[in-house]
Amino acid sequence: MGEKKTCPACGGAMEYERLVRMTGWTDPGSFPMELHTCPKCGRGELYLPREELERRAAERREEAEDRAWLLAFQEKVRAGEISPQLFLCPTCGNLRRDRKCPICGSVVDLKTMEETMPGDPDRK
Ligand SMILES: [Zn+2]
Ligand SMILES: [Zn+2]
Repeated sequence: MGEKKTCPACGGAMEYERLVRMTGWTDPGSFPMELHTCPKCGRGELYLPREELERRAAERREEAEDRAWLLAFQEKVRAGEISPQLFLCPTCGNLRRDRKCPICGSVVDLKTMEETMPGDPDRK
């Protein structure tokens, strides 16, 4: 269970009591919150369990990573390094997005989609 919380009313150490299931108004599902109570003054406080906090933090991290990936992708598209769409390499038939084919080295002008430098299909 979570670490000891400090009572916001009297400053004493609160004790974990039990999980409380929140159902209701806005959320059709239910999720548990930890109820901590103060043995001195009787104050009760609800906290999200650590697993839920970690799950939410991981969710935010993933969103940030997705955003960073998308920005980097758009930046490369703007710079003409990659195409927003996959296309077939005119030389080797590999599905590619890059200006330069990673397999055969063919170079395609991504604005006109014309091969400006044919690749070597036997390149290893
Ligand atoms: Zn208290
Ligand atoms: Zn190729």
